[in-house]
Amino acid sequence: MSLTVAIIGRPNVGKSTLFNRLVGKKLALVDDTPGVTRDWRAAPARLAGIDLTVIDTAGLEEAFDDSLEARMRKQTERAIEEADVALLLIDARAGVTPLDHHFAAWLRKGNTPIILLANKCEGRAGAPGLYEAFELGLGEPVPISAEHGEGLAELVEALLPYA
Ligand code: GDP
Ligand code: MG
Repeated sequence: MSLTVAIIGRPNVGKSTLFNRLVGKKLALVDDTPGVTRDWRAAPARLAGIDLTVIDTAGLEEAFDDSLEARMRKQTERAIEEADVALLLIDARAGVTPLDHHFAAWLRKGNTPIILLANKCEGRAGAPGLYEAFELGLGEPVPISAEHGEGLAELVEALLPYA
C-alpha cells in the first residue's frame, strides 16, 4: 500500500522540482501532442522506506485566461480527492502571497491533512518567508529546498503519522 501525496500550490513555488526530487527522475511535463499540456502527473516514489504515489499539479502556468482560477480549483480539487495528504508549497523567498492565502483558506475547509512546506529555504534567503508562513494557519511550516534536496528528513517525519 502506498501513501498518495498531492503537491499543491501556486505557480512557480517549486512543485515540479519537488515532484522530480521525490520521484527521482524528470518526467516529461508536456504531452507529445503539440499544444497539449498535461496538467496532471502521478508517479511512485520511495522516501525513507515509505511508499508514495506523488501527484504533481501542473499546467496552470500556461492557462493565462479567464479560466485560470477555475482550472486551478478543479485540478487541485481532483488531486486532493485522490490524496491521503496534501503538501502545500510556498516559495519562502517570495514570501506568502495572496494566492497562497487563497489556497490555504480553501484547503483548510477540506478533510485532507495538509503539510505546509516552505520551499527554497536553502541558505538564509528563505528565513522571513518561513516565519510568514505561520500566518497561513496550517501549523508549523517545514523548511525544505526541493532543488538542493534539503529538509527531506523533516518531510518524512511529517509524513510518518499518515504512513
Ligand atoms: P512549479 O510551477 O510550482 O511546478 O515550480 P517549478 O518546479 O517549475 O520551479 C519554479 C522555479 O523555482 C524554477 O526556476 C526552479 O528551479 C525554482 N526552484 C524550485 N525549487 C527550488 C529551491 O529549492 N530553491 C530555489 N532557489 N529555487 C527553486
Ligand atoms: Mg510545475
